[in-house]
Amino acid sequence: MYDYLIIGAGLTGITLCKKLREKGIQNVIVLEKEGEIGGLCRTRLINGHTLDIGGGHFFNTKYPAIFDYVFSYLPKEEFQYYKRVSKIKLGDYTIDYPLESNIWQLTLPKQVSFLMSIIRNGESMGLKEPHNYEEWIRWKLGDMVCDEYMLPYNQKLWGVAPEEMDIDWLHKIPRVNVEEVLQYSLQRQQDTSKFPAHVNFYYPKRGGFQRIVDALAKDERDYICCSEKVTQLDYNGQYWKVNGTHSAKAVINTAPWPDLQRALDIPPELLADFARLRYNRIVVSLYESDYEVNWHWRYVPDINTPYHREFFISNFAPDSKPGGIYRETNLLRHQADRKALAEVTTAAAYPIPVLGHKKAMDNILNFLAERKLYGVGRWGRHAYQNADVAMLDAITFVEKITG
Ligand SMILES: Cc1cc2nc3c(=O)[nH]c(=O)nc-3n(C[C@H](O)[C@H](O)[C@H](O)COP(=O)(O)OP(=O)(O)OC[C@H]3O[C@@H](n4cnc5c(N)ncnc54)[C@H](O)[C@@H]3O)c2cc1C
Repeated sequence: MYDYLIIGAGLTGITLCKKLREKGIQNVIVLEKEGEIGGLCRTRLINGHTLDIGGGHFFNTKYPAIFDYVFSYLPKEEFQYYKRVSKIKLGDYTIDYPLESNIWQLTLPKQVSFLMSIIRNGESMGLKEPHNYEEWIRWKLGDMVCDEYMLPYNQKLWGVAPEEMDIDWLHKIPRVNVEEVLQYSLQRQQDTSKFPAHVNFYYPKRGGFQRIVDALAKDERDYICCSEKVTQLDYNGQYWKVNGTHSAKAVINTAPWPDLQRALDIPPELLADFARLRYNRIVVSLYESDYEVNWHWRYVPDINTPYHREFFISNFAPDSKPGGIYRETNLLRHQADRKALAEVTTAAAYPIPVLGHKKAMDNILNFLAERKLYGVGRWGRHAYQNADVAMLDAITFVEKITG
């Protein structure tokens, strides 16, 4: 009988395993459906190119505990530290990210239109904050930024209609300070000192983002069973029987809940909540091209271009051959491309913030917690967690349950 059975060996599952064992709980097992660990943070070497198959991954955090945690297993010297060079493609122009600070890089007529639109945004006009996703973006950023960038980009990324989207994740969008936007435009320069922490990032000098996974998992391998997908979860009132073979006093899930729905005996009143937990899938396509730019990545909001972001690999992965580019496309928009050197589809990429998703997740987690089945990390909470937040969630969870 295990004390804890963990579903999924991504960064969350590995961190849970590590931290439980550090607390003296050795009777732990991690079941991973794939033949290898790492989940979204896996890397493949293809034709000399370092391809992060879960999409563009960079390490940074505002939590010192996460720097300490990661650097104690993969020392800081093993990383290259970069000042982010990210761009946005708007029509024929490529300008610096973020758009609001770099409007001066557009043509004069475009600058005027963007500035007028930003000045008239609902928030700065003192209008009441709307509770509809599209109206909220208009209110916050003005019509031009909404129509030419935010709306098409997010529609491409999420793959759902704007009216289905909730607004609870939009706090991630910084407040637009109209005076600063005007100032940057007039001085034709942005003030990078005002940017949040992710203006810089770390990337492993070799081996791609997966180096972090491998370093953290080094001592956990004996506790991880790969190629074992969880398909059956039965609770007898005292303990769980998993896949009919493993008994565990408690189960911690780090995999997408919709995939486990059939494995669980769900009461009818929770079925509607499960239906609100949706995720998208991303195709990562590798190409070769002789680029001379120093960009790390570029956002492509144009609705007629299938992919939404592209990455210039050799500009951040020192061990990658020059000329590698990969593009991320929502699976719903993707068409197979024979020119691609490789195309990899994620099993699940982003939890989609559809209307009511958070309440639905709370209902499910409350119901299951009474049965000692918990959810931790990006999928366990069905929340837009980056790797650092997912690891922090795992660490905090273990602290909590071990007192
Ligand atoms: C395109 C993209 C870009 C990103 N960029 C960044 C970035 O730059 N920086 C950053 O910090 N974060 C980034 N993230 C977020 C980061 O990938 C996640 O926060 C992190 O990988 C979450 O780890 P996890 O272990 O919670 O989930 P996952 O890595 O998804 O792991 C879940 C594991 O569960 C397994 N599993 C699923 N179902 C079952 C089952 N039934 N039985 C057993 N196992 C199962 C899966 O195979 C997987 O291994 C990005 C994510 C995406 C999609």
